[in-house]
Amino acid sequence: MKRREIFAGNWKMYKTCPEAENTIKSLVEGLGDIGTKEVVVFSPSPYAKTCVETAKNSPIAIGMQNMYFEDEGAFTGEVSPIMVKDCGCKYILIGHSERRHVFGESDLDVNKKIKSALKHNLSPMVCIGELLEEREKGTTNEVIKRQMDGAFDGISSQEALKIVIAYEPVWAIGTGKVATPEIAEEVHALVRKLIAEKYDQATADIMPILYGGSVKPDNISGLFAKENIDGVLVGGASLDAGSFLSIINV
Ligand code: PEP
Repeated sequence: MKRREIFAGNWKMYKTCPEAENTIKSLVEGLGDIGTKEVVVFSPSPYAKTCVETAKNSPIAIGMQNMYFEDEGAFTGEVSPIMVKDCGCKYILIGHSERRHVFGESDLDVNKKIKSALKHNLSPMVCIGELLEEREKGTTNEVIKRQMDGAFDGISSQEALKIVIAYEPVWAIGTGKVATPEIAEEVHALVRKLIAEKYDQATADIMPILYGGSVKPDNISGLFAKENIDGVLVGGASLDAGSFLSIINV
């Protein structure tokens, strides 16, 4: 079964606005024919509109890295789904491990953000993944199940079809320690099984599940060759257009 193949870059809190614009320009110029592959860049919020304008008429979709779940209100410093839409973003990253572990976001927050994104017709890319100590304790599968149950609580199968999952083991993010293709594939297969159990096999077969965690041009091919790995979410290596292009062109 041919699923959507998505190559996403997460720029985190890096770049100035001119640097963001130039990187998008270089990506647009360098992309060539990518067939049915999809490319998404999660830019810092203040540059999203510039990135959307620069990526216009190209295959690159822009997203923001976080938002709050309320439409508006006295929530100083937060960005609403309406604002994300207003900037022309198609995607929203939800539950990145840095949001969960640095800013204390819970599974319930993640669930509320997914519902809010769907209400506003934004495509949620939802991150899940275990900590190093959880993997070492042998509780990876339980953690993944808890995060999946929390994220998809109250989500219909029609809505689930609009969600992209990114499995990002926390111990692999920004550490240079990439999961082996076998380790990643095992968790991706589990995620697909959990979706099949909650909804049905057809929904599970369609859902794109991306891997993230120290993806680089030299380790992408082993990962992307795995049956249940439908693309990648790339942090550090997406900051440079050349290295992100090498990953996309796997
Ligand atoms: C990320 O930010 O989601 C990520 C996977 O980062 P890195 O590729 O740098 O590990």
